Amino acid sequence: MASDSFSSLSLPAAQIENLNSLGYSKMTPIQAQSLPHILNGKDLIAKAKTGSGKTAAFGVGLLNTIKPRFFGVQALILCPTRELADQVGKEIRKLARFVPNIKCVMLCGGKPLGPQIGSLEHGAHIVIGTPGRVQDHLRKGTLKLGDLKTLVLDEADRMLDMGFAEVMQDIISQTPKSRQTLLFSATYPDTIKQMSQSIQRNPITVTVESEHKPNVIEQLFYEVKKHQRNTSLLALFEHYKPQSTVVFCHTKKQCDEVANFLRCHRIEALAIHGDLEQRERDQVLVRFANNSCSVLVATDVAARGLDIKSLQAVINYELPRDPEIYVHRIGRTGRAGETGMALSLFTEAEAVRINAIEKYQKKPCICDVPESLDRDPGFSLEPNMITIQLDAGRKNKLRPGDILGALTGDAGLNGSQIGKIDIFDMSSYVAVERTALRQAMNYLAQGKIKGRAIRARKIT
Ligand code: AMP
Repeated sequence: MASDSFSSLSLPAAQIENLNSLGYSKMTPIQAQSLPHILNGKDLIAKAKTGSGKTAAFGVGLLNTIKPRFFGVQALILCPTRELADQVGKEIRKLARFVPNIKCVMLCGGKPLGPQIGSLEHGAHIVIGTPGRVQDHLRKGTLKLGDLKTLVLDEADRMLDMGFAEVMQDIISQTPKSRQTLLFSATYPDTIKQMSQSIQRNPITVTVESEHKPNVIEQLFYEVKKHQRNTSLLALFEHYKPQSTVVFCHTKKQCDEVANFLRCHRIEALAIHGDLEQRERDQVLVRFANNSCSVLVATDVAARGLDIKSLQAVINYELPRDPEIYVHRIGRTGRAGETGMALSLFTEAEAVRINAIEKYQKKPCICDVPESLDRDPGFSLEPNMITIQLDAGRKNKLRPGDILGALTGDAGLNGSQIGKIDIFDMSSYVAVERTALRQAMNYLAQGKIKGRAIRARKIT
């Protein structure tokens, strides 16, 4: 069996020391399985999720080949979203501490081009970015990939789901054939297999077992008539009363419709899908994370990779065709030793999907009908927190303490009435108890934070 100590690898002593100082005393399973191959220069397909230590797996690998004295882009990491790219960038910078002067440049959409071009002109060793923006720079000639040694596709399945296949092909076609290609993906559908065949050479495949232990997630399946999906969904809420839930749907339209339906039935739900602008998406996630909304209705694409807190329930409004996606979805509940519920609706025509899940999980699925559930018709899920948005953020040097200080000081709120505070570049969000909303808004309409009046509105 491979050793799980970093010192078993041929890494510079300074990197081993750096890893120790980061508290990485031994390799995680994905690192132990993949690093020997990566350091050997092999192409790799790794089936691993966020949380497995995958960033350090490819990060330690690619850093080993960087020549600091040569100022050309030697490694490119493509990520599906800005959030993931930011996380990856932070981790890579930590891992790069053992060599002075390694330059990482972030190229993500939604940010101005000018400063990115400036950073590239100063010379970059490692580029981390989202496909669209990386392609923009290649078109402009501000980014050149002719000296690339390592290409990483992080959450490759998600990039494909988001429709980046052609953009990725275009980017890859501008890199040397001799490059090492490391493909990380949470799932392994045919589209990934095909992509691997076209861009990788004899890749080694490594898989780490999914983190959730069996039985922590209670899985139940409900057979419904096609036109009864909505009422059956409501029955699930009125019976199980989960306090934090993601409902998975197939299409964006379905997400909007289901979220509307739930809201009409006193269940505060928000849809999240690829049509939302970054700002709207941030708002939805903030409201879910700060407990002013307890149900997210999401497509797979929108939900994957999001750092969603532990959920009491995952509900499949429709079952996915691929059992692997089902397992991936339900893995969002029952984390960290808590028990979770995975509830799924299916029609007679979709029963084959149940069979596929049974085969995949090697155990029978427990099926029932929603009519058997006791319902509490008075049930409502209107959270007791509500979010206020402030038109000032990091760029205005606003900090959580400033907001907390203003609301508990001059506005007279009790600290316990204030929830999570999130600061973005240009705006901030603070959750307050509904009962304290008027008091907070009255103050914000007239009072000041850090000496200036800041526009505030509640988000509903
Ligand atoms: P990732 O899956 O790359 O998002 O990593 C999940 C978390 O694990 C990150 O916060 C890393 O800093 C941390 N991590 C990565 N490798 C190790 C390790 N060998 N030992 C302890 N923590 C690690």
